[in-house]
Amino acid sequence: MQLYQNQHLKIYNSLSGKKETFKPINEGHIGMYVCGPTVYSNVHLGNCRTFMSFDMIFRYFKHLGYKVRYVRNITDAGHLVDDADDGEDKIARKARLEQLEPMEVVQRYTVDFHTILQKFNFLPPSIEPTATGHIIEQIEIIKDILEKGFAYEVNGSVYFDVVKFNEDYAYGKLSGRKLEDMISNTRELTAQNEKKSPQDFALWKKAGPEHIMQWPSPWGDGFPGWHLECTAMSTKYLGETFDIHGGGMDLKFPHHECEIAQSEASTGQSPVNYWLHTNMLTMNGKKMAKSTGNNILPGEIFSGENKILSKPFSPSAIRFFMMQAHYTSILDLSNDALLASEKGYHRLMEALDVLDNLETGKSSEFNIEKWKQECYDAMNDDFNTPILIAKMFDAVKHINLIKEGKESISPQDKEALQTILHAFVFDVIGLEGKNEGATGSDKLSGIVELLIQLRKEARENKDFGTSDKIRDQLATMGIQLKDGKDGTAFSIS
Ligand SMILES: [Zn+2]
Repeated sequence: MQLYQNQHLKIYNSLSGKKETFKPINEGHIGMYVCGPTVYSNVHLGNCRTFMSFDMIFRYFKHLGYKVRYVRNITDAGHLVDDADDGEDKIARKARLEQLEPMEVVQRYTVDFHTILQKFNFLPPSIEPTATGHIIEQIEIIKDILEKGFAYEVNGSVYFDVVKFNEDYAYGKLSGRKLEDMISNTRELTAQNEKKSPQDFALWKKAGPEHIMQWPSPWGDGFPGWHLECTAMSTKYLGETFDIHGGGMDLKFPHHECEIAQSEASTGQSPVNYWLHTNMLTMNGKKMAKSTGNNILPGEIFSGENKILSKPFSPSAIRFFMMQAHYTSILDLSNDALLASEKGYHRLMEALDVLDNLETGKSSEFNIEKWKQECYDAMNDDFNTPILIAKMFDAVKHINLIKEGKESISPQDKEALQTILHAFVFDVIGLEGKNEGATGSDKLSGIVELLIQLRKEARENKDFGTSDKIRDQLATMGIQLKDGKDGTAFSIS
């Protein structure tokens, strides 16, 4: 019997605004679609948090024994600088500025995206389709929507008719908006605008000769609107209605709202049963943004080459930090928070080592069966990883008491505890163990911290020869020490 048959999962569905009992369309199978990155710049840490939440969800479903088809796309065309179908394509713009082929931009940042995700120990999705690989499918959907009367063509562009759609269906149900309010809150259309209503959105845009990414279509050469690719790819690989669609909460409107409208206009059916949205990552209490400098890239955290953190942090420590918050809560990143998480992560890893070498006794004081179900209950309650982690630390407390001879554990219970802790720590939360590649940097960090301490002692003893030697030798190995008022920070290049 599969585990999922006795674990009843509840998921917060953004569409209903309620926690609902999860029931997949086909028993034992799950179809999940997550909006992937637009590959025109290095992947943001906030995006990493979103994808990590869905990686954890994917991992938990697999742990429960579901067969999951997880589709996460790559947006390599069609995402315009302005949400209102204006401005340049983000990738084409970057290509122009850096004098590259658009596909060079796509390749560079797709590789960056995969490299960072691999460091964070993500499982690859089942399918990772691209927008440019599905132009034909997108054109077919546009033809279908035109035929059903929910779109119109103007000068080689095709727009979705939101007002017409809203007569038969409800536009705005995911984001809780009403079309009348949206219309009354929008400025008048300018004369040159081709749209009938400001809420209409592009399905296909005519491309001028200067536009480097364009394809032939029944309406002339052009490119698809951004929202359409997700409808085309999710329908193709998961069907007209599938189980789960996820993304960052900033995508709820207009992106996901438009996806729903496109699907309903084309198939007459609601495309998704459960909509899941992840919350924001802030830094030092403020929104992360390149323009204000309150921003940090994952690679800058791993190397320590940044002005925000006192030292490098390993991908597992960051992953542990992110998993300590529920995916629907805002999470604030700071040096102190990362230091605390890193400590917690090391305590957990040490306890796993201690557990492997624990001596067993005749009986157990620790009720493993009850504890195990509490771990599942946490995950079954909308993937509550902070509660799961708190439960793991209950086990850590017992492990240490057993080690000190204050409690005992039977051989069967020890084995059960090892199995379930390993499953949650490595398979579900997705951390990597101390001896695995990603945390080699953890060991190095420990050694550098030891040298920093020795250098401090040398300086206190006025042994500047030794303290300088430590600093200079580390520098030749690419490890920079930076003295500041809060002590010595370091980076590894
Ligand atoms: Zn999408």
